[in-house]
Amino acid sequence: MSFSNLGLSNEIIRAVTERGYTKPTPIQMQAIPAVLSGSDLLAGAQTGTGKTAGFTLPLLHRLSSDQNIKGTSNGYPPIRALILTPTRELAAQVEESVLSYGKYLKLNTMAMFGGVSINPQKRLLKGRVDILVATPGRLLDHVQQGTVNLSNIEVLVLDEADRMLDMGFICDIRRILSLLPKQRQNLLFFATFSDKIKALAAGLLNHPKMIEVARRNVTAETVTQKIYKVDRDRKRQLLTHLIQQDNWHQVLVFTRTKYGADRLVKQLIENRIQALAIHGNKSQSARTHALAKFKNGSLQVLVATDIAARGLDISELPHVVNFDLPNVPEDYVHRIGRTGRAGASGEAISLVCVDEYHLLADIEKLIEQRLPFEVVAGPGDNFDTKPKPITNERKHRPKGSKRQDRSTAKPSPQTSAKQSAPPTVIGGKKSDARPGASRRWAKRSR
Ligand code: AMP
Repeated sequence: MSFSNLGLSNEIIRAVTERGYTKPTPIQMQAIPAVLSGSDLLAGAQTGTGKTAGFTLPLLHRLSSDQNIKGTSNGYPPIRALILTPTRELAAQVEESVLSYGKYLKLNTMAMFGGVSINPQKRLLKGRVDILVATPGRLLDHVQQGTVNLSNIEVLVLDEADRMLDMGFICDIRRILSLLPKQRQNLLFFATFSDKIKALAAGLLNHPKMIEVARRNVTAETVTQKIYKVDRDRKRQLLTHLIQQDNWHQVLVFTRTKYGADRLVKQLIENRIQALAIHGNKSQSARTHALAKFKNGSLQVLVATDIAARGLDISELPHVVNFDLPNVPEDYVHRIGRTGRAGASGEAISLVCVDEYHLLADIEKLIEQRLPFEVVAGPGDNFDTKPKPITNERKHRPKGSKRQDRSTAKPSPQTSAKQSAPPTVIGGKKSDARPGASRRWAKRSR
């Protein structure tokens, strides 16, 4: 099967050939004919499967074969296709793909998201925009200001729809849907199936074709998954050790909180490891800068919250580390899906402490897989500590007490001793591991 068998135009085939694609991926083989036929689509695609081209190529074909622009005008020319994405980074990335696949076509594409000035976007919208890639919040800002014309949307794509629902965008999506013409094609892409997706699909799609290229909630076979069970105070030391020992040049590290991400970056920099953080409290320019540096290979470590867990495509990313396990087991699948994309191999490592064993159990249940683990033990580690509840916020400061930046705060003597202890022992088998500790630890956790 080749792209030309799928009925796409020569201009599109030329563009994908130049990108080095020789044959369609499984999702593309199914999605392209379905979208070209004009029917609605409900598509479950494992992350990294080439789903962006799966909807973009037939969309470009469809729009370029019929250049008759209809629709009413509010002073702003009507837009023909709307692609909604959950995050700004994903919107920018999808726009890049649309521009690349459509480079030989006469179609105009625009990305629209918050965190940047709205005025340049208003100016662009005054001209012709065929394809708009947007995040819901900023699109609604434009709707409110009357600076976007959605009266002629022919195709609506909800990309990573499950993530949009998880992020609480359902009301925004409903509002946007109410502004679109009734007659249109709807394409709904999700990575993880849920009842919420089912409900959204039921209200949105009209006799959809359904495709699912991978089993639900599974991880890619190309990703080697490893768990290091480690004392909670030893995680940073272990991460530093792994990065330095194996000379990792590009690693995406996930933390549970924005604060945790910032703190880890500071600590890595103190260890002379180049790192930047990306999360919702960073300005859009800082987010864009960090991601661009990471993608082009000039930044060694990108520390991210789950904002970066979906959709982001980093070419041949070799390592993903879960510094903290996610609270929601599905996020594990998405996080590690940043590596091992498009058939490349990758390694996903999770650093798991006693507080997170229940999260690990939830993940293993979801992916229906027992994950192999190694125990990391070092001097001073106490494997008999009780699990502490996981909090997502920084600790509450008692009234009147002085703010203390935990990244620069003095560690407790116990933590400090551990962190200056000899190199981390992996496997708990070396002589400086507490005898029996790793076995007990392992036994208790299984
Ligand atoms: P996506 O799942 O859309 O984010 O795509 C994942 C990666 O697969 C991207 O780097 C694409 O450039 C790449 N890709 C998409 N389609 C193909 C194809 N047919 N052949 C090779 N690589 C592809």
